[in-house]
Amino acid sequence: MEKSEKKSFSRTLIKIAGAALLVLAVWLMLSDKPLEGLENTFGGHENEIVFEDGLTVTFIDVGQGDSALVVCDDSTMLIDGGEPGREDDVMRVLRSAGIRKLDCVVATHPHSDHIGTLSAVIDGFKPSKLYMPYIPDEYVPELRCYDTMMYEVQDEGTEIVNPSAGDEFMLGSARFTVLGPCAADSEDINNMSLVMRLDYGESSFLFTGDAGYGEETGILSSGADIDCDVLKAGHHGSSDSSCESFLSAVTPDYCVISVGADNDYGHPGKKFISRILEYTDKIYRTDYCGNIIMASDGKKITVSFES
Ligand SMILES: [Zn+2]
Repeated sequence: MEKSEKKSFSRTLIKIAGAALLVLAVWLMLSDKPLEGLENTFGGHENEIVFEDGLTVTFIDVGQGDSALVVCDDSTMLIDGGEPGREDDVMRVLRSAGIRKLDCVVATHPHSDHIGTLSAVIDGFKPSKLYMPYIPDEYVPELRCYDTMMYEVQDEGTEIVNPSAGDEFMLGSARFTVLGPCAADSEDINNMSLVMRLDYGESSFLFTGDAGYGEETGILSSGADIDCDVLKAGHHGSSDSSCESFLSAVTPDYCVISVGADNDYGHPGKKFISRILEYTDKIYRTDYCGNIIMASDGKKITVSFES
């Protein structure tokens, strides 16, 4: 081999090795590899969200708060919307899904980290329905974002639905079943969270809002089936949520924690993390992963990330 040929051969080898390393790095970033403990929960990033046929649930990174977009067939639902100021994070995901009008919005409970952007969402995406738990007026906290949300609801003529445990409704071919609130504890607004399971083929998700032990106990004693593949950890992974008996009935394969980096509440709690690790090491946190996208074809759930 000539000297110049040798040089170009080695350059080609270097290029191939570089490409192989890049592929390996990307594979490692995206692979659904087992996780251990608090520090190893995994974050990986892609640049766009792909909405496949079937069901796509996107847990939107809104910092310390909750927000999830559910798309099934051509139907759309936003569950919560994070704190005021996170409008851009929520709306960017809605737009990337090609959504101009939402079918419905869910306000799991009237706290600012859940309903903060919903007035802007209702104004911009004109949902036909707003699902929210019935909470007596005297227990609804005085919040500007609650007042503006209710103003938009009235302005847009959005239908308010206060579902009860046991109610079912469809989103495309996915079925939602309302599990809570089912314990009369209106003073603790977290325990008045609207809790719902979502079934699509053989895949199932449990959306818990900020439910704690009190509401979990009520749901357990109702005898409802809460065995699900994906658990959205209650109350941002607080140690006062997802009690042992609740987890043993859910037996999750995946857990999503919607949480802000270095938040003031110490979420997720270490006790909660050690409890959930008994069931799964597939634990995804929005502060590490960005937007967490879970897609199901009715049989298998695939997980990807975007930020
Ligand atoms: Zn919350």
